[in-house]
Amino acid sequence: MKGRIKKEAAIQLDRQDELRKFREEFYVQESQIYLDGNSLGLLSKRAEKATLDLLSSWKNYGIDGWTEGEHPWFTFSEALGEKTAPLIGAAKEEVIVTGSITSNLHQMIASFYKPDKTKNKILADELNFPSDIYAIQSQLELKGYDPASHLKKIPSLNGQTLDLDQIKKSITDDTAMILLPSVLYRSGQLLPIKEIVEYAHTKSVIVGFDLAHSIGAVPHQLHEWGVDFAVWCNYKYMNSGPGGTGGLFVHKKHHGKIPGLKGWFGSQKEKQFDMEHTFSPADDAGAYQIGTPHILSSAPLLGSLSLFEEAGMNGLREKSLKQTDFMLQLIEDYLLPYGFKVVTPLVHSERGGHIALEHPEAASICKALKNQRVIPDFRAPNLIRFAPAPFYTSYEELFDAIHILQEVMEKKLYQLYKNTRNVIA
Ligand SMILES: *Cc1c(COP(=O)(O)O)cnc(C)c1O
Repeated sequence: MKGRIKKEAAIQLDRQDELRKFREEFYVQESQIYLDGNSLGLLSKRAEKATLDLLSSWKNYGIDGWTEGEHPWFTFSEALGEKTAPLIGAAKEEVIVTGSITSNLHQMIASFYKPDKTKNKILADELNFPSDIYAIQSQLELKGYDPASHLKKIPSLNGQTLDLDQIKKSITDDTAMILLPSVLYRSGQLLPIKEIVEYAHTKSVIVGFDLAHSIGAVPHQLHEWGVDFAVWCNYKYMNSGPGGTGGLFVHKKHHGKIPGLKGWFGSQKEKQFDMEHTFSPADDAGAYQIGTPHILSSAPLLGSLSLFEEAGMNGLREKSLKQTDFMLQLIEDYLLPYGFKVVTPLVHSERGGHIALEHPEAASICKALKNQRVIPDFRAPNLIRFAPAPFYTSYEELFDAIHILQEVMEKKLYQLYKNTRNVIA
């Protein structure tokens, strides 16, 4: 009979782990178990160095830093886009590092939502992230539509995940655009992007994805799948720091159009400083930039991307799945009696990088875990998310985290805390 997983098994898995050397690249607090890399990834030494390098270029070159030095600022967003492209299966011209998810969404909707008399609804889902919904609402309002009638939400049958048939059923003749997450931020469900795009395009619907919870966690083939546009942040699995500059993807088939929101950094590079009042957009995704790039907030990404290049996205995904499988087994072995419900899909092809557990005492459990130096992620009202980061989380830490959680439950340590959320999560 198969017994419960023992700590020895975790130590063994760490020994066999080909990516374990990357842990040394990060500032991991040895006194804590950090399982919140899906909200804010940890700092790597390379990200730190890249940031200091860019500061030095300011120190050493002043205004000439735009064109001088190892990483000229004028083309830095494009250079980072090129290095990001392999992570999402894009050509380098299809990617630019700029803005935040929300500001990039505003740009994408302003550019690609072209309502007419019959096709004028935007389809999202009822589990979508609030900021994405707000962006849709204001873009509809700017076009004179009422979000109450023009923003349609795909219902979730179980309150945690979406169903492909339900998504297809929700695409109707009046749908102009669909905006969905690649991985749902709560349950961690990975949607079948390729199938959704294929179907939506048969209905002439523009499809955009928010990759917040999949970039750096899951490989993508955005170009091949024909995704029209995508947006993401770089502070979650990409480990590029609080407020680190985000990114966007625009499929080649849409290049050469005038963006919905124009700004001088969207200009053709050679024309930008002609200072003409007629806008000449870049002929690639760079056209969707608006103002001066946030060089210092983009800098960490340079170091971070070199780690992705070295470790390889496929190897990271493989380890991530192995680690979430390991957690699921630990949860089954040790946590079943305590009323947790796993809401993350168990099938690999439907799972992102984190595991989500539902529990009525989730808020107080998270506080008790933090007190024991395990850093989870709480999402109101009743969800605990655990994200092993394949770059720096060890199997032993996963074992210890679940062991500590069992102790919190067994000794009812969570009862010492109020079951309400703090200001942040
Ligand atoms: C993290 C996250 C955001 C945050 O948007 P910002 O503009 O970067 O603050 C938006 N949407 C989703 C789905 C997220 O997970």
